[in-house]
Amino acid sequence: MKIGFIGLGNMGAPMASNLAAAGHEVTGFDIANTPPEGVAKANTVQEAATDKDVVITMLPNGAILQAVASDIIPAMKQGATLLDCSTVDVESARAVASSAHASGLSAVDAPVSGGIGGAAGGTLTFMAGGTDEGFAAVSPLFDIMGQKAVHCGPSGNGQAAKICNNMILGVTMVGTCEAFALADKLGLDRQKMFDVVSTSSGYSWSMNAYCPAPGVGPQSPADNDYTPGFAAELMLKDLRLSQQAAEASDADTPMGARATELYAQFVEEEEGAGKDFSAMLPRFVSRRRK
Ligand code: NAD
Repeated sequence: MKIGFIGLGNMGAPMASNLAAAGHEVTGFDIANTPPEGVAKANTVQEAATDKDVVITMLPNGAILQAVASDIIPAMKQGATLLDCSTVDVESARAVASSAHASGLSAVDAPVSGGIGGAAGGTLTFMAGGTDEGFAAVSPLFDIMGQKAVHCGPSGNGQAAKICNNMILGVTMVGTCEAFALADKLGLDRQKMFDVVSTSSGYSWSMNAYCPAPGVGPQSPADNDYTPGFAAELMLKDLRLSQQAAEASDADTPMGARATELYAQFVEEEEGAGKDFSAMLPRFVSRRRK
């Protein structure tokens, strides 16, 4: 396939590289970064989109996605597919899809989980929204960049799945960290706590696969002084998207709202920026009950 790739940052560059290594003809554009090896350089965003079968975007947020989409949609050839893999708000994803459809294009929103390691290793999970035809058109690319793709329904549903998943993740990480902090105060050894909870009804991915306590459970960012991993500010971004969606759809999400407040405080007032999101554990340990 002829592929345009817009947004060659931490995630986009290795994803574009994997597509090129698999034999696709990939042309990339980024306002700041040069393309990785094997990816041709476009001088403008329109050039990256012209005459391509699929144009992939991997951008910071919905406003930037909407601006880029309005530049590239008129340049794309009829029947081509616009595949957005960024994490953005559901409304932006749906707005971009409807302008793509109005111009005779297919559109798929497919945010990812798996992080920079998954992008480099080609092991991402894609959560996709769009038509059956759109999903089928880009499935071979999901197979190269990832290990799993779930078609979640019409446009915007990929983003919906992503923010619901990450809202659960933020809430369970906060719950796991505060429980460890309580266990410390009660004189319960962290390893014993892990041994019980990881095989009891309190288990979760946060406890079992990504334990926030150093030296306990499988290797995780806690064992590397909370170097991300998944940075607290990225968790805050996703939690804010969940609250924006909850507001727009009139959904009651009190735990998501509280997790958002805690991560906002941690990132913006307590030097949590640049730390892994599991660094909530030392944060709780250093505080007293209010
Ligand atoms: P990044 O900031 O490293 O990359 C974004 C890139 O977009 C940058 O290189 C920037 O120069 C480029 N860009 C910005 N505006 C542009 C424009 N108008 N035209 C062309 N390029 C433009 O971010 P990232 O970590 O690669 O994340 C990308 C997306 O993936 C985000 O939506 C993020 O939420 C999501 N995501 C990231 C991770 C992660 O672990 N980093 C995990 C899952 C999802």
